[in-house]
Amino acid sequence: MTAQDIFLPYGVVSGLIFFMTIWKKWAEACGELIFPRRCSCCRVDLPSKGQVICGRCLDTVRYLHSPLCSCCGRGLPDSGGGDHLCGFCLRQPPVYSRARAAVHYEDPVSHLLHQLKYAADTSTLPALAQIMEPLVRELAQEFQPAGDRVIPVPLFPARLKKRGLNQSLLLARIFFPQAGEALLVDTLMRKRDTLPQTTLNGEARRKNLKAAFAVRNPAAVRGRRIFLVDDVLTTGTTVSECSRALLAAAAAEVCVLTVARVADYR
Ligand SMILES: [Zn+2]
Ligand SMILES: [Zn+2]
Repeated sequence: MTAQDIFLPYGVVSGLIFFMTIWKKWAEACGELIFPRRCSCCRVDLPSKGQVICGRCLDTVRYLHSPLCSCCGRGLPDSGGGDHLCGFCLRQPPVYSRARAAVHYEDPVSHLLHQLKYAADTSTLPALAQIMEPLVRELAQEFQPAGDRVIPVPLFPARLKKRGLNQSLLLARIFFPQAGEALLVDTLMRKRDTLPQTTLNGEARRKNLKAAFAVRNPAAVRGRRIFLVDDVLTTGTTVSECSRALLAAAAAEVCVLTVARVADYR
């Protein structure tokens, strides 16, 4: 075998790679023309380039706004007053100091979150960011990067590897674009691979997650207000267990933020 026999295949291979790269770019450009961008939810063609969700889908999103429970963020009947404590929080205050969600957990948001979480479809993020925008603006007024800390609900490492992403971390970056080093990715950890909460209910959910979380570096949370981020608030068991671990590590308080919230869970 001569040196040329070895170099020739390399030349062919690199030529092919170059050709494929050019072809891919060209095909993508043509694809935009032939197959325009589609709505992340209903797949209808979108008229303008920057759009990720169609007007019809966007119109169906139900935002959570006052009057809300000032503690758990539940939507309350509008009787002319402002935010106040709901009966559930009066009877049994949650572990966290308050929770806020941008919208009700229903289509199209539930579909977008499901795609992100289980299909690692990050193309849903711009649509979610658009939906989260009013709450993001509110948080920007309140968040103090010097003192506050942002913590996403962690996944067990094996599950993270399987899914390819932690949706809570991606959402935390949208909620707090200015967080920088105040976003703590590895401080709160999941000690064991728990069953998916969606397969359980009530007491089984609590047992499944009991002592499942721990703080790796308590000094990072001591005396801090923590903004704990998850995708959806369902029964509140996950964020309650995370809050317990954070408060045991001497965090000053925990505020829970989710994109969506199930209307009535207790
Ligand atoms: Zn649509
Ligand atoms: Zn409440």
